[in-house]
Formats: sequence, structure tokens, C-alpha cells
Amino acid sequence: MTGHSDFPSQPLQNGNGVAEERQFGTLAVHAGAPHDPVTGAVIEPISLSTTFAQTSVGKPIGAYEYTRSSNPNRDNFEQSVAALEQAKYALAFSSGSATTATILQSLAAGSHVVSVSDVYGGTHRYFTKVASAHGVHVTFSPCIELDVEELIRPSDTKLVWIETPSNPTLGMVDIAKIAEVAHRHGILVVVDNTFMSPYVQNPLKHGADIVVHSVTKYINGHSDVLMGVAAFNSDDLKDRLTFLQNAIGAVPSAFDCWLAHRGLKTLHLRAREASRNATAVALALEASPDVISVNYPGIDSHPHRKIALKQHRDGMGGGMLSFRIKGGQEAANRFCQYTNIFTLAESLGGVESLCEVPSSMTHAGIPREQREAAGVFDDLVRMSCGIEDAEDLKADALQALKKAASPQTVINGSA
Ligand SMILES: *Cc1c(COP(=O)(O)O)cnc(C)c1O
Repeated sequence: MTGHSDFPSQPLQNGNGVAEERQFGTLAVHAGAPHDPVTGAVIEPISLSTTFAQTSVGKPIGAYEYTRSSNPNRDNFEQSVAALEQAKYALAFSSGSATTATILQSLAAGSHVVSVSDVYGGTHRYFTKVASAHGVHVTFSPCIELDVEELIRPSDTKLVWIETPSNPTLGMVDIAKIAEVAHRHGILVVVDNTFMSPYVQNPLKHGADIVVHSVTKYINGHSDVLMGVAAFNSDDLKDRLTFLQNAIGAVPSAFDCWLAHRGLKTLHLRAREASRNATAVALALEASPDVISVNYPGIDSHPHRKIALKQHRDGMGGGMLSFRIKGGQEAANRFCQYTNIFTLAESLGGVESLCEVPSSMTHAGIPREQREAAGVFDDLVRMSCGIEDAEDLKADALQALKKAASPQTVINGSA
């Protein structure tokens, strides 16, 4: 499971400027990471300067003028993400949400978007409360593979928005199937790939036109940077989105770009380990009499396992899973309080393991009926597996499960 089997190698400039074919891990470490031409520094310096000197009016010394328009650290980070998503271009933003907002702002008033129902909460909020104010309307579908064609409005629909696997129930969408329909109508497909990271899934390879990430999660991977990125191949998108990146100005700082780039260099190691850990935890939970069901695309019980085998590197499931605990919301809340290694917190994709109860935390804003229709019951627990040891994570989950399921045996328990 250590190979990079389905990742076609990408050309990478070597020290002599010659393009060579490289695999994922090599690209993660070296893409967008040139040695400093003046000092030879192996690690790029952080370019904090907001402005860059010019030799005569309108003639900057190098490639840079003003840091909102472009910055060396942002350029390097963007190059690295582009290489890892097998894209021609990548553009970084100040958050995943700013990335989504900028893409939606590229649409003219009157445009229509078709989206999967269970998108990230902040994406849902933007679609319903902000985009509509600009005359962009979104139709949500709980089964987009079945009804995308009939939801498309011939002259108005401009985007189809997918998140696969979805949050927090890990439902999956066949990207190639959606792309086939959308492209027949001249519509672009956007995939939010935050949950899988570029290591586990490369949506452009399956026909998507734009892939977006909350860099805050796996790409940075250390829970200390808020950032977003979009990657794509089209020159037209490059022009439109670069213009908006500068015009709107929701750009990341040089320091954050530098940190996120450092995080990205170990993505393959972290994503493999997180996926291995999540598999071990998912199987242990599944075997427990205190668990109703487990949602994890890396194991055979997942209803869309076939899509994972087709879309994910080596059929990996990634680091995210969710499960329904017996004993309702009380048991779910207790579980998250009794874990010792999994920290009770929102977010995901860091080296440390986290857990949360979506119905009262990340998904509390969604009305109960709508939430439950998407499988988000009060007894659902979401876990982000980090890169600690699998045996410790498994033991931690099982001891918390035992205590949560039978609270009367816990001394000083809240029940
Ligand atoms: C966190 C997240 C976002 C939003 O990203 P921010 O960096 O928090 O703005 C978007 N999509 C998914 C799937 C996320 O998990």
C-alpha cells in the first residue's frame, strides 16, 4: 500500500532546468520549491515585503509588484498544489470559504448552480444566504447522479458543485458520471476535495474542471493555518479567477503560504497514515455491539465502496469516518467526552485526531428534518483520524465507547 500506483508522474524541473517525470512524493517535496538563487538556501525565505522595487516606471526588477497581486511564497505554494492535483494552474485564497466565494463571484447575475445537498455547512450558507443576493441561485440535490440532467436549466446553469465523500456521512458521488452529463450541456464541474486531499483523490483526472480545497485541513495538515486553494486546467478560468483573486483580495499571507507549503511536503506520509488509522478504527467500531453503523469508504460495508475503488488511490478511504452510537445523543456526547487521544473539536485533517457530534456542532444550523434526511442523526459521531498509532486510537475509541454506552458503570459519570 505504499506505492503511488495510479498517479501518473509529472514533469518537474531539475537543477539544470530539464523537465523529468516524478512521482507524488517527489513532487510533494520538490514542486514549487526552488533553491534561493542568491543565497542557495534550500528552503525558500519568507517574502514579507508587500511591495517590490522597480527600475523605471512600470518596470519591476523581478516578477513582482505588490503582494496582493502575487507573492513568491504564494506562487511556490500554488505551483506545488497544481503539480499534486495534476492541474496546469492553482490559485490560493485566504480560506476555503474565500475560494468558494471567489468562484461563485465569477458567475454573472442570473446564473444557476446545481449542488449536492450535503455540502460543507459554510458552502451551504454562502450558496443560500450570499450568492442569492448577487442573483446566483442554487438547487440542491440529495441524489445528484440520478437527477443532475433534469435539474440543469439549459441557458442558466453554469456550475455543478460536488463534495465527495460528503460531510459527515461520507456519501460518494461518481465524478466521471456527473462530468459526462454536465459537459454535454457545456457546464463546469467543481469538486470540493478537502476530505480526501490530492494524495487520495485527483478530481480533474475524473473529468472535474475545478478542484477546491480548504487548505486548513489536510494540505496544511497541522491545524495552524486557515487557507484555501482552487486548481484547474483552463486558461480562461486562469484569467477570470486570477483577476478576481486580485480584485477581491481574499489572499493568504506570505507566512501562511510558507507554512502550508511546508505542510504539503509531507502530505503523502500523513494521508497514508491517517487512512490506515481510520481503517483500523472503522473496523473496530463496526465489530462493537454498541455501534449501529459505520460510514467509512475504505471498508467493504460502505454502500459506495465501488466508487472509492475507482476514484481513490489504492481504494484508500482517507482519514475521516462517522458512526452512529447506541444510546442516542447522550451517548454520542459522552463518547466525545470520554476519549483521551481524540480531542473534542471541530475541523479535521490535522496530525492530531479529533471527534465531534455534527448534529449539535458542525451541522447544528441545518433543520432536523433536513439533517436526518441526509443521515445526520443526533447519535452520529464524526472522527478525524490523525497520525498517532493505530493501536492507541483503536483502544481509545473502544474504551470511550464502552463508557458511553453504559454510563452507570462510570464513577462520577454525568448520567
Ligand atoms: C473546512 C471546509 C471548508 C471551508 O474551509 P475554511 O478554510 O474553513 O474556510 C470547505 N469545504 C470543506 C469540505 C471543509 O471541510
